[in-house]
Amino acid sequence: MEVKEALGQLDLLQKKLYAYNAASSSLYLDSVTVAPKDTAEGRGVALGILAGESQKLLTDEKTGELLSFLQEHRGELSEIERREVEELQRSYRQLVQIPADEYMEYAMLTNEASDVWHKAKETSDFELFRPVLERLVAFNRKFAGYYDKEKKPYDALLNEYERGTDMEFLDAFFGEVREKLVPLIEKIGQAEQIDDSFLHRHYPVESQRRFSDYLMEVMGLDRGHCTIGETEHPFTLEFNNQDVRITTNYKEDSVADSMYSVIHEGGHAKYELGIRDEFQYTVLAGGVSMGVHESQSRFYENIIGRSRAFVEAIFPKMQEFFPEQLGDVTAEQMYRAVNKVQPSLIRTESDELTYSLHVMIRYEIEKQLIGGTLEVKDVPKVWNRLYKEYLGVDVPDDKHGCLQDSHWSGGSFGYFPSYALGSAYGAQMLQNMEKDIDVWGPVSKGDLSVVSGWLKDKVHQYGSFLEPADVVKNACGTFDPSVYTDYLTKKYTELYRL
Ligand code: ZN
Repeated sequence: MEVKEALGQLDLLQKKLYAYNAASSSLYLDSVTVAPKDTAEGRGVALGILAGESQKLLTDEKTGELLSFLQEHRGELSEIERREVEELQRSYRQLVQIPADEYMEYAMLTNEASDVWHKAKETSDFELFRPVLERLVAFNRKFAGYYDKEKKPYDALLNEYERGTDMEFLDAFFGEVREKLVPLIEKIGQAEQIDDSFLHRHYPVESQRRFSDYLMEVMGLDRGHCTIGETEHPFTLEFNNQDVRITTNYKEDSVADSMYSVIHEGGHAKYELGIRDEFQYTVLAGGVSMGVHESQSRFYENIIGRSRAFVEAIFPKMQEFFPEQLGDVTAEQMYRAVNKVQPSLIRTESDELTYSLHVMIRYEIEKQLIGGTLEVKDVPKVWNRLYKEYLGVDVPDDKHGCLQDSHWSGGSFGYFPSYALGSAYGAQMLQNMEKDIDVWGPVSKGDLSVVSGWLKDKVHQYGSFLEPADVVKNACGTFDPSVYTDYLTKKYTELYRL
């Protein structure tokens, strides 16, 4: 085989993988937006076939041979082609490690687990979920060995979500978070509390929809390439760098919920839309890791979206959308309200400051579960104890405790830490950005183009071409969690006049 011919095959292989993925995504999007409710069965059949075909294509012996051939001729490949081969080989090696029957059994288990978890959560019945969770933990411990038998099981899983991280790295990170933030949150609890009652007046959905359109305009999201839909849980779905969808969820008694969902998902969308054209339809298209993705969404949501400069800039317009609700409110009151700290039970509803503690609790539990030092049956007990210890809240039942997130039911162990890492990366990006450009001048005029330009240059454009750690180095320099805790300490000390 000639290298040129092999590259043609490589191109076709990646386009096929893209196509299967695009088809599955379309079906998923349809299922959570406009599909009639009793139509899951047919989509399930189609999705099963698509996943199977994609898996077959990637684990085909011919694919293995093609990748080996290209690897041998790597000297004749461009840098981009070399990275494509590397990425595909990684997936190939991993998938062929897992015995087909175990893979099937696991797919069926996660499918079942999702249903069981929904029921268990609804009735707040951990015992119902326990046997399934036990099997999921056992599978993940086993799969960890297939991913990388040199590593400890939880390290191997962590590496799947944020390549390059491990328990040593995360222990140091969360150690800093615990040491600095737990006392800060306690101090805030004793300070004078912020009034955010006006955020919970009646905000009609129709006005909120127009407000979302405005926010997307401020973020520079081109509606020819990015639409907004409505789903129970907000998310971002990318097809390619010309086609990204975001969703939100409107609550008429809480205007900030959708506002910050739109900005958060808009941040994910900016990342995907900013990836270079030359990576499209290859495995290098798409954001590089969960942590880096969250760094972008949280940067827009918290660092920009909850900054005084931004809130002041958009507040007059916000009053136009909601004249009755916000007529008697000032921009400063709004700034303080959207930054109110409230130790709570639910991660997805938590504020910027307490968020990483919710994540830390999950990290500590997963570490022990996968490490074999905690039994599944003891999860609720440990969960409740840690919530009391770090956030000072009493967990009334498992629905508001260890059954709240869907991640474990989907077999995701090691996913949570990337949420907190993303926030920490963001704080360091801000520090570097402020050295390079005037951040707050344009933001205070409602102009985010300068900020977006910097992020595109340092992060977005690369897609998955660089390793996560290299993107972080590029945008943050050497990772230093104290930059994150300093950022939070400074912001909240001022806000609460501590
Ligand atoms: Zn996100």
